[in-house]
Amino acid sequence: MIIVMQAAAGRPELDAVVARVEQLGLRPHVIVGTERTVVAVVGDERDAAGSGVETLPGVAAVMPILAPYKVASREVQTEPTVVRAGPMVVGGSTIGVIAGPCSVESREQILAAARAVKAAGATGLRGGAFKPRTSPYAFQGLKQQGLELLAEARAETGLAIVTEVVAPEDVPLVARFADVLQVGARNMQNYRLLEAVGGTDRPVLLKRGPAATVEELLLAAEYILNAGNRAVMLCERGIRTFEAHTRFTLPLATVPWLHARTHLPVVVDPSHGTGHAALVPSLAAASVAAGADGLIIEVHPDPRTAASDGGQSLDFAAFARTMDTCRRVAAAVDRSIG
Ligand code: PEP
Ligand code: MN
Repeated sequence: MIIVMQAAAGRPELDAVVARVEQLGLRPHVIVGTERTVVAVVGDERDAAGSGVETLPGVAAVMPILAPYKVASREVQTEPTVVRAGPMVVGGSTIGVIAGPCSVESREQILAAARAVKAAGATGLRGGAFKPRTSPYAFQGLKQQGLELLAEARAETGLAIVTEVVAPEDVPLVARFADVLQVGARNMQNYRLLEAVGGTDRPVLLKRGPAATVEELLLAAEYILNAGNRAVMLCERGIRTFEAHTRFTLPLATVPWLHARTHLPVVVDPSHGTGHAALVPSLAAASVAAGADGLIIEVHPDPRTAASDGGQSLDFAAFARTMDTCRRVAAAVDRSIG
C-alpha cells in the first residue's frame, strides 16, 4: 500500500506513520518528493486491513496495491483452476454445462430431465432438494427424498449431481449424495455455511448474492478456500438493479473481470439472471462468448407445470438448440463444451 502524506504534514506525523507501519510488521519506505511525502509499505499489506492507518494525523490517502483476497487471487496462482466432478470439467479449455430443473419434483421428472440434458451434452445435473424460497408458503423441496432421486438419476446417466445446501447442519447429508455443493445467492455471505462446505471434499458452486459486489463474492470464496477446499466455482447469476424487464440484471462483464483477478472458474446462470425462458438462449451464448467456464441452466420436461421457476425453464427442445448454438460460439473462442 502507498500512504500519501498531506502537504502540511511534518516530521512528527511522518514518524508516527512509520512507527505504526513497523508495529504492523511491515516495512516502510519513505519517499520524499518536491510536493508530497509518500510511504511505500512493503510486506503483505492485507495484514494492515482495518488498522486505521488512514486516520493517523497528517495522512492524506491510503492506496491499496494488493487485492484483499489472497488464495483466490491470480497473484498467488497464475494457472486457471479446473474443477472436475465425475464427467464434468469446468475451466481451462473446457466449458461444463449443468442443466436440470429448479427443483426435484418426482422420479419421472428428474429422470426425464437427466436423460434429455445428457443427450444434449450436459455433464452436470442440477436440481434443488432443499429450496431457499422467498416465501415460506412456496414449495420447499423434497429434501432427503429429492437427494435420493438425484442419486438414482446419477446411477442411470453418470451425470455429476449439483444441488444446493442451505444450512451448515445439512452439509454432511447433502455431501453424501451430491457431487457438487451449490451455495445459493441468498447464502453467499453465510460464513458458517461457507466454512462447512469448505470442510468437505466436494467441489462448491458459489453463487453471487444479488446485492453483493464481485469483490465480496471473491472474499466469500476465500472462506471456502481457507477451510481447505480448493475446488470452488464462482457463479454470476444476476444482481438486483432498478431495471424491471428481467428478473435480475445479468452483468457479463463479471466474467472477464473475474478472470483477470482470480484463477477460479466462472459459471454463468442465464436462467435466474434473466427470469424468462425466451431470453436464456441468447444470454447462454453471450456468456460463452464472454469466456464463461461453465453454464447452469434450468430445464424442465414441462415448464408450465414446474413447482418452481417454470417461467425461466427451457423445455428439452429449446435446451438442445441452445447447446448447439453454444457449441458453435465456444469453437469461435477456442473452447469446447463437454
Ligand atoms: C437455484 O439455482 O434454483 C437458485 C435458487 O438460485 P439462486 O441461489 O441463484 O437464486
Ligand atoms: Mn431456480
